[in-house]
Amino acid sequence: MIRTTYRGRALKILAARGKPRHVRTFINGQVISHAWQGDDAQALDWFRQIIDKLDASGGPGHNPYYAQAHWYAPGTYVLNGNGCPVTPDGGTCICSGCLRRPEGNLPGGSLNDVTGVR
Ligand SMILES: [Zn+2]
Repeated sequence: MIRTTYRGRALKILAARGKPRHVRTFINGQVISHAWQGDDAQALDWFRQIIDKLDASGGPGHNPYYAQAHWYAPGTYVLNGNGCPVTPDGGTCICSGCLRRPEGNLPGGSLNDVTGVR
């Protein structure tokens, strides 16, 4: 079992009951996998690599396949009208959902109160 923080994210790695050589992985309280193949140290390395990539490419709003708030450090983002994390300084999101729904992707999350836009 590992409970630690990396670049502002809370990480938790637990044994997967009944599945040898697998672990359950969590970031900021959100389950990522119920049965990730590998041990605690390998899972922690995987998280660190992903997080390093997310931050190196610009953080919230810049990673189309990681457009959920739990991937980012609390306090470093706001949510846009589509519910994606973006930088508070006027950022937008490049995920496919935001490209389809630009009305919910105005800079800086200024349409936070718009919900259910399709
Ligand atoms: Zn988005």
